Parts: sequence; C-alpha cells; structure tokens
Amino acid sequence: MRQTDCAMTPQTTPTTPTPPETLVVQATRIACDGGEGALGHPRVWLTIVPEVGHVDCPYCGRHYVAGGDAAAH
Ligand SMILES: [Zn+2]
Repeated sequence: MRQTDCAMTPQTTPTTPTPPETLVVQATRIACDGGEGALGHPRVWLTIVPEVGHVDCPYCGRHYVAGGDAAAH
C-alpha cells in the first residue's frame, strides 16, 4: 500500500511584521514611545484634530482613535 497524501506544503511561519495597533484614547494629545520591543522610539507627542478624530504615529504606525469625550465636539 502506497501513501500518496504526503505533505507537499511544509509549514512555514510567516514573517509578517506586527500590524500597527489601534488604540482608543480619551485625550487629544498623546505621548507615544512605541512601547517596549522593536517598535520603541523616542517619545513624540501626537495631537488628534477633533475634526479628524484620529492620528497615526509616524514612528511606529500606531493608530490612535479619539474615543469618549475626545470624539465629541
Ligand atoms: Zn509611536
């Protein structure tokens, strides 16, 4: 008896980078330092424009969304 269902596709771990996080914040000014690990960077201050409602960190790509009162008028 011959086995024909041999594994043709070896399991490979994809090396996709960590996707940017989306963080809901309650303030329009956020200090981001990328957190711990490879995404760490010097602390920068980001400002969420109320009309826009969100801002991306230019360093680590985190997506900050204004929530709660910050999203209000
Ligand atoms: Zn950042």
